[in-house]
Amino acid sequence: MYRLYPYLFKDRFRKNRRCSVENKTRISGEWISGLIRDFIGTSPENSMKTKKEEAAWEEALVGFASGADPIWQQYKEYVGAFHWTPWEVFNQHCPGESAGPEELTVISWILPQRKLVRMANCRNKTYPAEEWARIRVYGEAFNMALRRHVAERLSEMGHAAIAPMLVSNWAIVKSLRFSYASSWSERHAAHAAGLGTFGLCDGLITAKGKAMRVGSVVARIGINPNPRFYTDHRAYCLFFANGTCGKCIDRCPVRAITEKGHDKEKCRQHLGRSRKYVKKTYKFEGYGCGLCQVGVPCEAGIPVTAARKALERGELPPPPPPLA
Ligand code: SF4
Ligand code: SF4
Repeated sequence: MYRLYPYLFKDRFRKNRRCSVENKTRISGEWISGLIRDFIGTSPENSMKTKKEEAAWEEALVGFASGADPIWQQYKEYVGAFHWTPWEVFNQHCPGESAGPEELTVISWILPQRKLVRMANCRNKTYPAEEWARIRVYGEAFNMALRRHVAERLSEMGHAAIAPMLVSNWAIVKSLRFSYASSWSERHAAHAAGLGTFGLCDGLITAKGKAMRVGSVVARIGINPNPRFYTDHRAYCLFFANGTCGKCIDRCPVRAITEKGHDKEKCRQHLGRSRKYVKKTYKFEGYGCGLCQVGVPCEAGIPVTAARKALERGELPPPPPPLA
């Protein structure tokens, strides 16, 4: 049995009010996708908080993964013992609702950045565009509200649910291998739910591209998992698929991306500096960067043609040609 760090357990037995059991109702993946899209379409929190009250988000991609998928244990072994499986986070926070991994579904969604936000950030070279910084703060506040909304609605319908990013003991932990890592990764949940693969810059490349934000909820509900139309966790990145591109390297103002990958510490420091810039230039408390997510071939779609076409057909991509 692995050991989690003790501080992760500090509220383990606190009953979460989202874990009620009433109204057992059959809920489908379609119903959940509709719930997410309706919230995007109707919530006043979906706002960039500009004078015109423009929406932060227009659409979502939604995917599902089983709590019993072996990928969760693989993540744990790769990232570290502190990284939760869906079963761990669910049973910590819904202690009265104990469920086996096979009874759980991870609901994951992608919120693709709007074109005007991508275009604005594309013009910038060092710090984020105002639109991008607004999404980083207000768009993510909406994403938080969406996590709460999905968990609460499912709980009201009799399916205990928890949003791992909203629990009080979610933590960033120092990691020898990754500089730092967290107890739950939204991008890894989306990868498990068939929504995308990782790029050289660590971002998740989805059918709507890498410029996006992502969220998830773990629920005691049986929903058919999405197939993963990739066998390689980097199948959608041109650099790993055929050794080309590397455009994100040049987009990074602090050289936090190289052919060896993403330097999280350099990136974090630049994000810290961006706070001052955002406050001084745009006059609000915000931050962000995302320059490596725009002005690149994976900005708004899957750039590896064979993988994109295979996904459109609902098939695995063909294996790469043999080395000469
Ligand atoms: S810009 Fe190119 S190398 Fe970087 S993640 Fe996207 S496809 Fe991969
Ligand atoms: S790696 Fe970090 S610092 Fe570099 S462009 Fe991307 S978000 Fe900005």
